[in-house]
Amino acid sequence: MAIASVNPATGVVEREFDALDSAGVEQALSLAHETWLTYRGTSFDQRAEWLRAAADLLDADAASLAKTITAEMGKPLGQAEGEVHKSARVLRFYAEHAAEFLAPEPLSDPSTVDAQRAYVAYQPIGPVLAVMPWNYPVWQVIRFAAPALAAGNVGLLKHASNVPQTALYLQELFERAGFPKGAFQTLLISSRQVESVIRDPRVAAVTLTGSEPAGRSVASIAADEVKKAVLELGGSDPFVVLPSTDLDEAVAQGVAARISNNGQACINAKRFIVHEAVYAEFLEKFVDAFSKLRLGDPTDAATQVGPLSGEQAREDLLELIEDARAHGASVLVGGSAPEGPGWFLEPTVISNIPRSARLFYEEAFGPVASVHRVADIDEAIALANDTPFGLGAAAWTNDEAEQQRLAAELDAGNVVINGIVVSYQELPFGGTKRSGFGRELAAEGIREFTNVKSVRVG
Ligand code: NAP
Repeated sequence: MAIASVNPATGVVEREFDALDSAGVEQALSLAHETWLTYRGTSFDQRAEWLRAAADLLDADAASLAKTITAEMGKPLGQAEGEVHKSARVLRFYAEHAAEFLAPEPLSDPSTVDAQRAYVAYQPIGPVLAVMPWNYPVWQVIRFAAPALAAGNVGLLKHASNVPQTALYLQELFERAGFPKGAFQTLLISSRQVESVIRDPRVAAVTLTGSEPAGRSVASIAADEVKKAVLELGGSDPFVVLPSTDLDEAVAQGVAARISNNGQACINAKRFIVHEAVYAEFLEKFVDAFSKLRLGDPTDAATQVGPLSGEQAREDLLELIEDARAHGASVLVGGSAPEGPGWFLEPTVISNIPRSARLFYEEAFGPVASVHRVADIDEAIALANDTPFGLGAAAWTNDEAEQQRLAAELDAGNVVINGIVVSYQELPFGGTKRSGFGRELAAEGIREFTNVKSVRVG
């Protein structure tokens, strides 16, 4: 794919960029390595000051940066602005907490390890490559960069090919904030060039947020080089609705959980699993709400759902819908692409999906909700877990025993009862099964790319 900003609402190519050649990549890797040799020795206080400066710049740039995000990937402008402010908060969070998360941990009784003193230290490991997706083009990068830079690593970004202007902004942001040149660099490269960067001895580790095929490729190259990898991959999150819940609230939150970010978030609710006692009422209200959603220009404040990121993304979803229809599923609302420019897809609700349909197991990356009917909580949990993914899961019930069971038995990295799955910097974020491995955010996120060093002083 060419490196270009193509407005998904119009299909117009706004800007194109050349990929770095091998000499350009070499220059960047050499600068990253050189920078790291001194950057790793900077103090937590110094790094915190730069992180706070970056946060202030992000907040100040929010309105203009949001326009770039929306023009490149199509999310509603208000959501783009929200993403920028959320990113500023994670920068401040690690400015505040990095020293505490990475403080040496002394052993209370060092004599057990034949030492006078013994402790565990968390030390930076070097340049880390981040291969990132377009769907939260600022947040995904900052949630990697904030802990990486706070820990004393340096960052190399290979961003998705459709968000180059946002990618370039991010390098500039860290430079303007005062970080040494080379502490964070954007490499405008294609996915084919990623392998040589991972294999470069100066690169210590890699993190990828994106699809399963990309994750498999990146992680296998990293394994071949015996380098650490973190993978944040896809999800097909269940949204379980049981009879004791407030149904109107579950419907309203369920719609929001499916359509936010134009339905293109890893943690959007994608499979609605509803108890038969409330199924008919839920479905009627849910379909009604979907039919009233405003699809259109993402720069219009009234728009709730903007376009998909690209033509191929829409083709893939239309194929998934057609396949479901062909296998006997019922398309209750939407299901088609409206006439006109841009890569819009009508918000869609589908029920009666048999296991033979691709939609039953595959991730629908767009505003397409699957609705399933179950007889009881046992069937709800079994169906929720009947997926190759394990990223997030939401469940709605006011019964305490059910809440406990769901929290314990839903097989996902993030479980929410009576709420929707969102990431918080205070809580670790990541998946199980094919949603990946490793964690971002919180203390776990900053420790992923450190050398956990055991020290004994005799
Ligand atoms: P994608 O195609 O995998 O792209 C993600 C990144 O990987 C892009 O920078 C892409 O570069 C690069 N890439 C693709 N194939 C590669 C390869 N073989 N080797 C090296 N790099 C490669 O994913 P997407 O379609 O943009 O994003 C959607 C997916 O990401 C969904 O499955 C979604 O659920 C998942 N996601 C997960 C999380 C999470 O936190 N778990 C968050 C957001 C999204 P190019 O653009 O140049 O191809």
